[in-house]
Amino acid sequence: MKLTLSIIKPDAVKRDLIGKINTMIEDKSIKIVGQKMIKLSLEDAQMFYSVHKDRAFYQDLCNYMISGPIVVQVLSGKDVIVKYRELMGATNPANAEDNTIRKSYGVSVEENSVHGSDSEENAKIEIDFFFSKREIYNF
Ligand code: UDP
Ligand code: MG
Repeated sequence: MKLTLSIIKPDAVKRDLIGKINTMIEDKSIKIVGQKMIKLSLEDAQMFYSVHKDRAFYQDLCNYMISGPIVVQVLSGKDVIVKYRELMGATNPANAEDNTIRKSYGVSVEENSVHGSDSEENAKIEIDFFFSKREIYNF
């Protein structure tokens, strides 16, 4: 079983969408094997999104990510990285397919409700960034 890192972002936590998003995840037979609510520091947000540090949207993105609590999750399942990216939908909710999380709940290209790792290598780095081994249930 592969793992991926998911984040329910501040816009979605603020609008009480944790349960609805988790239902969409579980309905795809993806297992939530680690989950906690945290608030990022600016330093954490800047480090987490450092691949985007030269992009025009970087500072705004970091400020948005610290604007309220987030829920970080470890998801498990066959092909879960690709499967969860499909369930999330396109970065811009306006371009996302029906029945995706971002189409259902995203507000804008920035406030797009969820994050998901984009590769096996990044999934490992991102899971290690937020979770210790004992916080991930090994089914
Ligand atoms: N983002 C933004 N403006 C953009 C592109 C991205 O604010 O023009 C934000 C958005 O929240 C996105 C995050 O930066 O989810 C990371 O961007 P990426 O291109 O990695 O998109 P993702 O992998 O999340 O679909
Ligand atoms: Mg990305």
